[in-house]
Formats: sequence, structure tokens, C-alpha cells
Amino acid sequence: MKQSVKLIAGNWKMHGLSADLAQAAALREALEGQDARCRVALCPPATLLDRMNAVLTGGGVELGGQDCHEKPAGAFTGSVSAEMLADAGATLVILGHSERRAAFNESDADVAAKVEAAVAAGLEPIVCVGETLVQREAGEAVAVVSAQVEKSLPDSLAERPFAVAYEPVWAIGTGLTPTLEQIAEVHAAIRTALVRRLGQAATWTPILYGGSVKPENAAEILATAEVGGALVGGASLKAEDFLKIISAA
Ligand code: PEP
Repeated sequence: MKQSVKLIAGNWKMHGLSADLAQAAALREALEGQDARCRVALCPPATLLDRMNAVLTGGGVELGGQDCHEKPAGAFTGSVSAEMLADAGATLVILGHSERRAAFNESDADVAAKVEAAVAAGLEPIVCVGETLVQREAGEAVAVVSAQVEKSLPDSLAERPFAVAYEPVWAIGTGLTPTLEQIAEVHAAIRTALVRRLGQAATWTPILYGGSVKPENAAEILATAEVGGALVGGASLKAEDFLKIISAA
């Protein structure tokens, strides 16, 4: 299994109403007929998945969820299972985003259970890791992120397609980004942790960078060693901005 093609995924978070499907349509249309130099995905809120799938089907843009429950079905009011995401047309799912780790107390073990569920449903997980500002300032970034990789990835991922996203918590939605040297250092540590955890096949696992990626900084970030793509929040909401990031890949 080789996965060296860059993946640019847009995380719409809790943004997006029916009218915003026009952005997905514009993205699809703009990419149609172009040589696909990278993979492109949109991860809208669950309410838009089905309709966005109708907009994207047959084009080059993949569809992802933003989270899933660890169980395939059951009495879990308000939750969405991996099977449901797949049924709505998703092929990817973001798991362990720092907003979920912080606001919903998701532990590495919770994330690993969700990854298991995603794999069982045939989804490709994008597993997020990242240090807080306090941890970075204490010189703990590499240790924290390596431990998250170690504990958030179940054995069932070996030989499966998945991605890791390095998202420093302090860079998400803040306009702040690490230096390119800091990004390269953490991505190299993630690669080491991945191969230690899952073996040589993980040499090809894309390691995305996420945190205030914009049209202005995308090219230099995407050209950094071991950066296998980007997870983009705010700048993925408008097709025009997202397309500029995609063309930087
Ligand atoms: C994200 O939501 O994963 C993210 C990186 O957000 P932003 O690009 O807005 O910082």
C-alpha cells in the first residue's frame, strides 16, 4: 500500500446550511477537467452529508464526516455512527479533533475505539493529534504528540488507508502557525511513532498539517518535509480560498 499523494481536507465544523452547498458545487466544478495533483475532501456537518454527496458524486472531491460514535447503532441520542456516515456517502472521517478532545473529553482510548468503528465501516480515518500552547512552551510537543499517535491508533489500522493530522491546538482558528522547522520536527516524530506503532506500511501514511492554513501560507507548509497534505478549517468554507490552497499542493 502506497499513499504518497497529498490530501487536502476541509473541515467545515459546525458551519454550513443548504445555501452553502453552492460552495461544494463550485469546488467540484473548478476541479473538473483538471489533472488531480492531490486528493481533495470536504467534511461538512452531518446534516449536509447526504445532500453534499449528491453534489459531489461523480466528481473528484471526496466526502468525510467530522466524528462518529464507536458503536454501529444503539440508544445514543444525538450520535452518528460510522456506518451512518458511510451510508450517507462519506468515505473519510475526522477523528480525535482537538475540539472534541477538549469539549467532549475524548481520550486517546475513545479516539482509538472510534477509529476501530470507522475501519469496520470501511471509512478512512483522519486521526488528529496536537499539543496545547502550555505543552509546547514546556518543550513537550514531540512527547505529547508521539504519545497520542501511540495510543489513538488501534492495531486494525495496520495496512489500512488512513491519515494523521498534526494540529497544534494553539494554531487552530487563531491565525498563528508554528515555524516550518517546528512543523518538520513534529512531522518527523509522528513518522517515527507511526512506524514504531504500525510497522513499515506506515511509511506511506499521509501526515497532514492543520492549524490556520490559508492561501498565503499553504505553499510553504505543503512543501515542508513529511507534510502530506492539510486539514483546513475556516479557509475551506469558501471554494475560492480552498481552491487556492489546493493549487498550492
Ligand atoms: C481545523 O478545524 O482542523 C482547523 C485546522 O481549523 P483552522 O484551519 O480554521 O485553523
